[in-house]
Amino acid sequence: MRDFLLDAYDRAFREEVRAFLARELAPRAAAIEDDDDWSAVEAVVAALGAAGYLRLMFADLYRGSLARPGLTHATILSEEASALSYAFETTIATALSCAYPLHRHARDSVRDRYLPGIVDGRIVGAICVTEQDAGSDTSRLSTRIEFDAARHEWVVNGRKRYISNAGVADTYIVYGVTDTAAAPGNGLSVVVVPRGTAGLSFPRRYTFMGRRGCVVGEVAFDACRVPADHLLGTEGAGMRIMREMFNFERIILGGSGLGVARSAFDIAVAHAQRREAFGAKLGTKELIWNDIAEMSWRIDAAELLTYRAAKLYDAGTAPRELMKPAAMAKLVATETATFCADRTVQILGGDGLTKEHGRAEQIYRDARALPIVGGTSEIVRYLIASADLPTIKPAL
Ligand SMILES: Cc1cc2nc3c(=O)[nH]c(=O)nc-3n(C[C@H](O)[C@H](O)[C@H](O)COP(=O)(O)OP(=O)(O)OC[C@H]3O[C@@H](n4cnc5c(N)ncnc54)[C@H](O)[C@@H]3O)c2cc1C
Repeated sequence: MRDFLLDAYDRAFREEVRAFLARELAPRAAAIEDDDDWSAVEAVVAALGAAGYLRLMFADLYRGSLARPGLTHATILSEEASALSYAFETTIATALSCAYPLHRHARDSVRDRYLPGIVDGRIVGAICVTEQDAGSDTSRLSTRIEFDAARHEWVVNGRKRYISNAGVADTYIVYGVTDTAAAPGNGLSVVVVPRGTAGLSFPRRYTFMGRRGCVVGEVAFDACRVPADHLLGTEGAGMRIMREMFNFERIILGGSGLGVARSAFDIAVAHAQRREAFGAKLGTKELIWNDIAEMSWRIDAAELLTYRAAKLYDAGTAPRELMKPAAMAKLVATETATFCADRTVQILGGDGLTKEHGRAEQIYRDARALPIVGGTSEIVRYLIASADLPTIKPAL
């Protein structure tokens, strides 16, 4: 079933990018995990940019060998990178999520200033949505974005938490409230805040149970001023831009989940065929083969849903119609990743818990973030059901 929805041209791209990552990422993956080595992350981001792989999403900017680049290829990149290092992949996934609204909604002057550095891999970007009191419920955002007509500038005040690439990014896409009188969620707008802006600071960096080597922290905006043209889209368009961005991000996350699930599965399969217990290989035991079978069908299901969503995106599906397939891809692929990571550790027994026997324990720690980031499993279930129950507005 592998790659069922991909054509020969997509598969050739997978081989190309796999060879590239084996050369550029694999030798640095241990430094990223063990030494929290940001310079190793930067080196791979730069190599990806130089090779043109961060432009895959943008047909007008792309200059590589693909005739029809798109989200399918960015998802393949996400899957292949996550199979080697999910922590690393989060850095480029975030940079691409930042590039996406810049490409689509920025005025030319702003797009030309901030986008090339990201797609060339010279800098990374960050997306700033989440706050202390506004996680899943983005209608509770309290960051204020106000227009100072006298100086023709936007002024940003607020504090964001759990922001990937905080402090290491050069470009921050910031969601905040411009119209406090609007219904919750309707008065949101988005501005670009570059590093170096007075009042922009990074009060803390978090330590997570996994994803070592990637940077996640707080971002504070204390009367940060940016020129009027730094608004993305129109005033009040924040929710629509966010919805589009999350569709994109959730399909990329489908690829991440798949890559993580696949790498766990490969470890479990090898171990079940090698390890002996009670006079036979572990893989002959019914309880173990049941686990292997369940991982296997879940991975296939995740793959089909993820590449269906990517292909729908590339075919130009409207954001509203894409919401459900993107949510399904994210839900199934990320839950598959945690399932496979958990069962792999179990199949390895003690070997699954120590760093001395390979990556199972790292994958287990890394995978746990997947059903939380980019819309939790609960929230994406709501999105799926809301498409199926259009006459009902559930109380979330
Ligand atoms: C490693 C990491 C990186 C991140 N990177 C970024 C980033 O770059 N930019 C950014 O803006 N954010 C980022 N986030 C934040 C992430 O998007 C949020 O953590 C996520 O949206 C959930 O918000 P929360 O943590 O506040 O949990 P909450 O929203 O408080 O939810 C807590 C739990 O309650 C559940 N829940 C909430 N509402 C309901 C409901 N109505 N019904 C049932 N269950 C419900 C949730 O599903 C969850 O299980 C990151 C988070 C992590 C962990």
